[in-house]
Amino acid sequence: MTTLKQVKEKVTEKARAKINIGLDIKGKRPDGYHEVCMIMQTVSLYDTVTLEKTEGEMILECDDPYLPTDENNLCLKAAVAIKKKYELPGGYKISLKKRIPVAAGLAGGSADAAAVLRAVRKLEGLRLTDRDLCRVAKTLGADVSFCVRGGTALSEGIGELLTPLPDMEEVSVLLVNPDFPVSTAEVYKAYDELSDIVHPDINLLTDKLISNDITEFAPYMGNVLENVTIPMHPEIQFIKDFLNENGADASLMSGSGPTVFGLFRDPEKMEECKKKVKELDGIATVFSTVVSP
Ligand code: ATP
Repeated sequence: MTTLKQVKEKVTEKARAKINIGLDIKGKRPDGYHEVCMIMQTVSLYDTVTLEKTEGEMILECDDPYLPTDENNLCLKAAVAIKKKYELPGGYKISLKKRIPVAAGLAGGSADAAAVLRAVRKLEGLRLTDRDLCRVAKTLGADVSFCVRGGTALSEGIGELLTPLPDMEEVSVLLVNPDFPVSTAEVYKAYDELSDIVHPDINLLTDKLISNDITEFAPYMGNVLENVTIPMHPEIQFIKDFLNENGADASLMSGSGPTVFGLFRDPEKMEECKKKVKELDGIATVFSTVVSP
């Protein structure tokens, strides 16, 4: 279906997923947003976003029938926001090929939004820096700013304060997504009701990451939201243990979950572990990826 009057050009961008090597919450601001301290890492699993110019219409087509294709989709929100900010004429037809599981702790929606911003920059030939795009990104969601550039970064504030960290050396990453969604909003709400929480030390983890040696930094990896999501879904702990018992050098839940990732120095060990996870009784979808600069 197309209502385009005229298609001028086309740009395709990869929207890569992220994992959290560490995630802590520092507090809650008066406006209700949580102050975070997270180590973000892009992985090579990606959605594909293709943009074409239109005379004015904003259209989204998506191969995932369960995702909204109206203004609730972050792709359209991003296109509308950048058009408004830079007073761009015309509109866009966006095609989204969805591969990143939805509501999985992998920031798929944020990655898509950031990819749309990059695609508009290219399509319109705009002389905008990543920092300029991040100004639009932060109005769209906490992780969108990180997804503009990706790589390895410390993310603070509500996700908009980014400090790039040295790229992680090539590490194999097994993503294990139990096939159910988890609402980020609900996890943060439940977190606010917890007390006596053990927090990971993200500053120490950041220092240890510089070694680029998993055995050095793995003991400091931690995600404070495991305190919430694991009691809700004990499968997550089972998957973490399973990965650790089957060759992973480290494993952790990403974001608010439920996806668990395993880091492997040895890609063969990862492939062996992947096979074993697949033999488990229909619990999950698995993706083998690598960290990506
Ligand atoms: P995060 O780790 O940033 O909390 P997540 O991986 O848990 O994100 P997403 O997959 O980004 O979650 O999506 C969360 C919600 O956003 C879903 O309920 C979905 O309906 C909505 N959404 C809007 N646009 C998109 C999109 N392009 N892709 C995925 N979800 C989208």
